This record gives sequence, structure tokens and C-alpha cells, in this order.
Amino acid sequence: SDVFLRINDLRIQFKTDDGIVKAVDGLSFGLGRGKTLGIVGESGSGKSVTSLGILGLHRGRGRNADVTGEIWLDGEELISTPQERVRQLRGQKMAMIFQDPLTSMHPYYSIGTQIVEAYRVHNAVSKKVARRRAIEMLGRVGIPRPERRVDDYPHEFSGGMRQRAMIAMALVCNPELLIADEPTTALDVTVQAQILDLIRDLQGEFGSAVIIITHDLGVVAELADDILVMYGGKCVEYGPADELFWRPEHPYTWGLLSSMPRVDRDVRDRLVPIKGSPPSLINLPRGCAFHPRCPYSERDGIPCRSVVPELAGEQQHLVACHLPAAQRRRIFSDDIAPA
Ligand code: SF4
Ligand code: MG
Repeated sequence: SDVFLRINDLRIQFKTDDGIVKAVDGLSFGLGRGKTLGIVGESGSGKSVTSLGILGLHRGRGRNADVTGEIWLDGEELISTPQERVRQLRGQKMAMIFQDPLTSMHPYYSIGTQIVEAYRVHNAVSKKVARRRAIEMLGRVGIPRPERRVDDYPHEFSGGMRQRAMIAMALVCNPELLIADEPTTALDVTVQAQILDLIRDLQGEFGSAVIIITHDLGVVAELADDILVMYGGKCVEYGPADELFWRPEHPYTWGLLSSMPRVDRDVRDRLVPIKGSPPSLINLPRGCAFHPRCPYSERDGIPCRSVVPELAGEQQHLVACHLPAAQRRRIFSDDIAPA
């Protein structure tokens, strides 16, 4: 089939002085070529660790993560693949953009030099050819007069321009998978919208599969084909974006929707914002990890505090909640979003 990335039962744990952090606990999903998946959750839900796991960045210096499961990228299983090969794939087939470009850019080298190096690692071309490519890419991501800006240093760019330059660097080798972790969080609203448009345009042009990781459901509203909601290292709801927006079934997703300005005001007023803070990944609450914050916990005797709900559902829309599906739909359509 056309599934480019397939994750099966991914588990990522770290040992710390305080105990074992179960950052990702049994995650599975597939992503087709040219498709976009939004992974949504609060900070500490395991979403960033998921992306580092896919890129193989949990390995190596000082990172003693224990990773199990399968990560299939275009027919290659990455967890069992030697690190050297994964490093090769990073940049060539998959690339990442971060919230803060300064974490992936070196302050002492010009933007152009860094794009040239990123390109030449995977392409046997002269510096001159690579420089031409860097200028072309800077132009593609909307940097005005790229032939003049190519020799600037990261600090000479504005935040939005730096984000564009990082996208140029990520895309210079034409990766088939692009992972964007909170790509717009540090930017003001106008620039945010521009960057999201840019990602969409480039995806159309390059045909890359894209994973957008965000705490803000609004960021992926128009961009994602599928949405995966994470809580406490687990997927709690997963399905086509339209389903998640119009027929969300998990109480946590209802709470996330309440913070979305674009949701109809009448609906928003009825949604209860989630109180409290996300659980520690070292000491997850027993049963459903969301139960201390859930307004429906133990309703009608369902065992929220003792039994972990399985991710289950009809067709592609999956939900991990003990409330019977019919009851969830009734709560949403009658109490939360009456027509
Ligand atoms: Fe709420 Fe219980 Fe469903 Fe968890 S399983 S989301 S606590 S109703
Ligand atoms: Mg994060």
C-alpha cells in the first residue's frame, strides 16, 4: 500500500533519578505519502519524544532511552537498523523542523553555509552547485532577495525568517517525511499563518509526508488529514481530522477543542476547559490516566480509576474511553454541540 511510515506499538522509556519515564507507551499509526498527521497534546504528553524516536535521536550520547516496537519507513525498520544508516536517512529521507530554529542552526556559521553543508552531506556536488541550491531554496521559502541574504548569520534574520530558513534547510534534500515540532509556537499570529501556509505549499510541491506536533489543535485544523491526540504517553483518540473536529469522542479532546478560537462560540462556551495539569510520566494515575481531570470519571460505575481503557472503535476513528460510544456521542451532540 502507500503507507510511507508505519509505527507499531512504539514504547520509549528513560531511566532518571526519580524513576522510569514512560514517555511513549504503545503508540501505533500509519502515514501515507503526501499526507499530514497532526499529533496533538499538552507538553509532557510524549509527542516530542515520539518524533525524536522516529528520527533515531533518542540514541547516542547521554540518551539512554529504551525503545521497543517497530518504526517502518518506506520498507525499512528503523529500531533494528544500525545507527549509521539511521543517520543517513535523517536528512535524506526525513527531516525535522523545531520550534526554535536556533537549536538546529549554528550561530557562528552563515545560513547559506549551513544549508550548503546539509545538502552536501547527502549529495556529491560542488560547493558552488550547493550554494546555488541554497539560494534557490531560500527563495522557495519566501526569503526576499535570497542571493543577498544567503551569507547572513542566523541572528541577522527575524524570527519568522529564521523559521523559513530552517524549513529551507530541512527541505534542501527533498525529504519524504518532514516532522515539524511546534513549528509556529514562538511566532506571532500573522507569521504563524504564513509559516503554516508555507508548509502546506511545500508539501504540495514536494509531496512529503508531514507530521505536525502541536499543543494547539487550531494549528492542524486545516492542515492535517488525520489527527492523533496524546495523553500520558498514549494515544487517546485518533482518526480523520474531520471526524475529530465534528464528532470528537474523548473528553480530553473536548477540552482541547474548548481552547480553539475558531470553534463556533456557542459550542465553545459549553465546552469545559480542562482543569489541572498533565500527569507525571513517571507516576501515571492508575486506570485511565486522564481520570483525575475528567468530568465523566466513574460515571455509571465505569472503572476509570482502575482499568486502562483500550483504544478501540469503528473504522478509522479510535477512542480510548470507558464511556460507551453511544453515550459519548450523546454527550457531545446534546450537551456540548447541539445542532
Ligand atoms: Fe474520562 Fe473515564 Fe473516559 Fe477516562 S475512561 S476519559 S476518566 S470517562
Ligand atoms: Mg515538545
